[in-house]
Amino acid sequence: RAKDAGGGEHCDYEPLLHANAEEKRRLENSLRSALEKNELLLHYQPVVDAKTEEVVGFEALVRWNSSEHGSVSPAKFIPLAEDTRLIVPIGTWVLQQACNEAAASWPENVKINVNVSPEQLLEPEFATTVVRALSQSGLDPKRLEIEVTESIFLRDASIARKALEQCMALGCSVALDDFGTGYSSLGYLRKLKFSTIKVDRIFVQGAAQHSPESLAIIRAVVAMADSLGMTTTAEGVENDDEAEMIRQLGCTKIQGFHFGRPMPAADARLIFGRPHGGPERKKA
Ligand code: C2E
Ligand code: MG
Ligand code: MG
Ligand code: MG
Repeated sequence: RAKDAGGGEHCDYEPLLHANAEEKRRLENSLRSALEKNELLLHYQPVVDAKTEEVVGFEALVRWNSSEHGSVSPAKFIPLAEDTRLIVPIGTWVLQQACNEAAASWPENVKINVNVSPEQLLEPEFATTVVRALSQSGLDPKRLEIEVTESIFLRDASIARKALEQCMALGCSVALDDFGTGYSSLGYLRKLKFSTIKVDRIFVQGAAQHSPESLAIIRAVVAMADSLGMTTTAEGVENDDEAEMIRQLGCTKIQGFHFGRPMPAADARLIFGRPHGGPERKKA
């Protein structure tokens, strides 16, 4: 395999698909050229206000239409991109693209959420990448929310924290994604001022099925977020029962198939009646 200019210097294949190393190698080689071949694109999933159901933001979710492998799920290629550090250039592209789209097409109160992997955050250049994405797009930093998972605190927690603090100093906000599903220590909630805690779909599903544990956990997270001056977003709300339960539990925002699937940029623009983006963008 060519371990070349793309920059992958370590290849830790251990966790994934041992039996299928060959398939993985082929996927990695394709992923290496995905950016230049324009095979990546972003879909956007609406985030709505739990009370008013107004769209208050979108989460950018990367998609890969590979000429060789067809459409590949991020659940499969993001871990691979992280292992090979290809996530760094991919993540830079995602950030720029998402900021461009938000600045060009959506009303000024609509936020854009962008997922950032630990490997990206730990790059010394990360804050510079954010500054560039903001200045090249002209996006108000207040509209950019970076999503990280608890996994960023597993390695160089203090470096990760500094990088996020630099982003906050720019005016961006930070959300804690998939809360409660990873390795959790609550200690970092003392040290880092997240704006939002995203409650994972597992708890949402459990709550709608009246699981006492899921209900208790969501209630506790909502209360804790509230005391810490943070908001909550319920993830993966798929139906009316789940939405109703989440509203009763007091989550601030909701995201899920019930309110909108991840969709191409052109469809996301239609939500605001702006099919073509740019021109009608701003009424003075
Ligand atoms: P995530 O950040 O937790 O994103 C939410 C995932 O839940 C998305 O999966 C979304 O399509 C899915 N989802 C949303 N609503 C529902 C629902 O109602 N029901 C169910 N069952 N699922 C729902 P997706 O797009 O496959 O992305 C998977 C993960 O890949 C993301 O999880 C995120 O961790 C990662 N990812 C996606 N895009 C990026 C990216 O640009 N950069 C990085 N670093 N990671 C990304
Ligand atoms: Mg996310
Ligand atoms: Mg999530
Ligand atoms: Mg999740």
